[in-house]
Amino acid sequence: MAESMRALVYDRAKDPWDSSKGLRVEEVPRVTLDERSDYHDRNRVLIKPRYVGFCGSDRGIWFRKAFKDMICGSLDNETKALRHAKDQRVIGHELFGEVVAVGSEARRSFGLEVGDLVSAESHIFCGVCHQCRSGDHYVCADDLIIGISYDGAFADYVKLPAKVIWRNNMDRMRPEVAAVQEPFGNAVHACTKVNLRGKRVAIVGCGTIGLFAVAIARAMGATYIVGVEPVKHHAEMARKLGADVVLEPGAGAEDYAHDPGLCAEVRRLTDGVGVDVALEMSGMNSSVNNAIHLVRRGGDVILFGLKSGDAIIESFDRVIVDGINMHSVIGRRIWETWHITRHLLEARDPNIHDLVWEVILNGGEGPIVPFDEFSPERFEEAISSYPKVVLKF
Ligand SMILES: [Zn+2]
Ligand SMILES: [Zn+2]
Repeated sequence: MAESMRALVYDRAKDPWDSSKGLRVEEVPRVTLDERSDYHDRNRVLIKPRYVGFCGSDRGIWFRKAFKDMICGSLDNETKALRHAKDQRVIGHELFGEVVAVGSEARRSFGLEVGDLVSAESHIFCGVCHQCRSGDHYVCADDLIIGISYDGAFADYVKLPAKVIWRNNMDRMRPEVAAVQEPFGNAVHACTKVNLRGKRVAIVGCGTIGLFAVAIARAMGATYIVGVEPVKHHAEMARKLGADVVLEPGAGAEDYAHDPGLCAEVRRLTDGVGVDVALEMSGMNSSVNNAIHLVRRGGDVILFGLKSGDAIIESFDRVIVDGINMHSVIGRRIWETWHITRHLLEARDPNIHDLVWEVILNGGEGPIVPFDEFSPERFEEAISSYPKVVLKF
């Protein structure tokens, strides 16, 4: 019997997708690096996770709201390749850990060494498709997502291709903050889609990524930031992170519709003009319409919030007639966004690093959950109470 390790998994045999929730800690076969039995291990590294963030996408898996097809489809593929049933997916991709073994090519081509303290880009790009060959790895046609379609980091060990490993400089970053660079990078990507310098900006939806975006927009020179957020303690955090004002969205005429009162208030706050840029960070249909109605003529709407299925765009003609620029954001530009992420977190003016630690991670009180003490009930309470929960190994 091969050695085992602990991992937080979704198990489709034990927990059928449509009639279960949560994740379970299981003993699974321990991953190892062995070039003689697997040629590809030359290009891989074995990592011992220390802190791993729990993502909004992991929440989607926990509550069975998203990623069923990606998880089950990839398990089917692995079952075929392995010629035995594979029903467990190790979840987790917001990694901070220590390299404990390095493949020969991973050392030679990427300079990785045992002892390196690393994070990972969660999109394992193929490197050879049209987009990858054009430098747009973040929209690779054939990518695997760590912790969804590839075994992830909520485990004693994780094995990853060297090409997605990001080496951290720990002189200027706490390990807990290093673990949230991947989601922070989503917000950096959203805030770098257009130039925010000197702009008035609305962040519509101050969940985890929206909260990051408030601090980043401020650091990138936005001069006025309006948060839109219904949850009181999130609104409070948005203020602490740099929002000038946080408004509560009300109901529109239909459940998909914008809130006219909210939009009138934003116009009032911006000399009757509207904001230059609205970042939609929730994915709610009404929030998308709010974002479109908050921007001025010729402004930019950045769409990041994600919800599957159809959405209704109200008065679509206005988008065209008012020359509103729509952009969508997925993942992070590899590695451009990571460099900006690193610089923003390592700089101390403004001190986003400490804001993330003190405001979003509450100084470690509550959101940092030891893996040894994992229980589904306690964990579900933590992910319901804090914008970002990080598992400590
Ligand atoms: Zn994530
Ligand atoms: Zn590709």
